[in-house]
Amino acid sequence: MTSLFFKVSCRDCSAESIIFSKATTTIICTVCGSTLTNPAGGKAQLVGCDVVEALE
Ligand SMILES: [Zn+2]
Repeated sequence: MTSLFFKVSCRDCSAESIIFSKATTTIICTVCGSTLTNPAGGKAQLVGCDVVEALE
């Protein structure tokens, strides 16, 4: 349960993105521009996406 990267699916357009779990910047969907994660306490808080799978 310490995966550093997650494959996520945008809730708005279903595009898949790879995100860093400790991202300290806002990550947006490269397809529709929706916010996927916001930085929160040193880790990424998922706000507009769902995790598809955790990557090693
Ligand atoms: Zn999107």
